[in-house]
Amino acid sequence: MDKIILTGDRPTGKLHLGHYVGSLKRRVELQNSGEYDKIFIMIADAQALTDNADNPDKVRENIIEVALDYLSCGLDPAKSHLFIQSQIPELTELSFYYMNLVTVSRLQRNPTVKSEIQMRNFEASIPVGFFTYPISQTADITAFKATTVPVGEDQLPMLEQAREIVRKFNSVYGDTLVEPEALIPKNTVCSRLPGTDGKAKMSKSLGNCIYLSDSEDDVRKKVMSMYTDPNHIKISDPGNLEGNTVFTYLDAFATDAHFAQFLPEYPNLEELKAHYQRGGLGDIKVKRFLDAVLQSELAPIRARRKELEQDIPAIYEILRQGSIAAQKAAAKTLAEVKASMRINYFDDAELIQAQQEKFNSGV
Ligand code: ATP
Ligand code: MG
Repeated sequence: MDKIILTGDRPTGKLHLGHYVGSLKRRVELQNSGEYDKIFIMIADAQALTDNADNPDKVRENIIEVALDYLSCGLDPAKSHLFIQSQIPELTELSFYYMNLVTVSRLQRNPTVKSEIQMRNFEASIPVGFFTYPISQTADITAFKATTVPVGEDQLPMLEQAREIVRKFNSVYGDTLVEPEALIPKNTVCSRLPGTDGKAKMSKSLGNCIYLSDSEDDVRKKVMSMYTDPNHIKISDPGNLEGNTVFTYLDAFATDAHFAQFLPEYPNLEELKAHYQRGGLGDIKVKRFLDAVLQSELAPIRARRKELEQDIPAIYEILRQGSIAAQKAAAKTLAEVKASMRINYFDDAELIQAQQEKFNSGV
């Protein structure tokens, strides 16, 4: 069986460090590993509209931002198809058929959807499209027969839902769809990077992000005002690592090589943590180190983005070509799905012939 990746992001803003460590960095590594037969990376504009229906311009404006972030992080159109969800009508058609295989109560139990409904104050009136987006996500994944979906931890319930729909479809209509596996970062900090405010998840909707395209100054300001241990007042005070966002970010980003380069008095993060806990290490010094680490990771991405921004038509051309390739793949799966569901009337000469014979014989 082919190894196929499908994953994507909503064009509701620029991409941030959470996307980077949760999924994007991994995608680039997998892409360059050469182990995958096909890679599809989707800008999920149709899904973004499920909770931004009244703001289509926000979605429209952010397509290019996400595409630039992708390319500047190393996604390569020669190896990965970068495409726009709404340009693949087959995805909508698949969603419509999958809706028959899912109950309302099953969707209501989805913990990610539950918390997103709360976050968006949708409790009183949830748009049907938003409520059913896990079904549309199943269409996105299965349309490409994806085996592997690199995502952050918040997407696990979506993957579980997709697997259930696949099993149900295959058991009712015969083996047609492929069950996907989620690929979550092994480092638990990376699977759900907190916001700069210490809130559980860095998220565009919460405004607590460091964006990949932030200027050097902005990154520094955000790092310097990050949440630490509120009881660590004097440098000599023992510091607490629990919920201390600066250390959480170091867990996600700092390597021993960063210590050698920027803070050689400590061999590694363990030693830095131990000193902080003992007392005698100030927040500012730790923040300066984190800033240096992040700047070294972000500088090449930022530089590449500046170059790419010079030729926006070329980026749209990449998306157009990616969408053509994605549409072809999705059309093939949709034809198989319709055949399995026995709604491929015009392709079935035997059906037409058999019915003719039935009428001829007058039975
Ligand atoms: P929105 O608030 O519009 O939902 P978002 O910031 O949650 O935006 P998405 O586009 O929904 O971003 O998520 C895209 C991908 O990035 C998903 O695979 C998701 O799991 C991952 N991701 C998003 N935020 C984080 C985070 N803080 N840590 C790790 N992974 C994340
Ligand atoms: Mg999200």
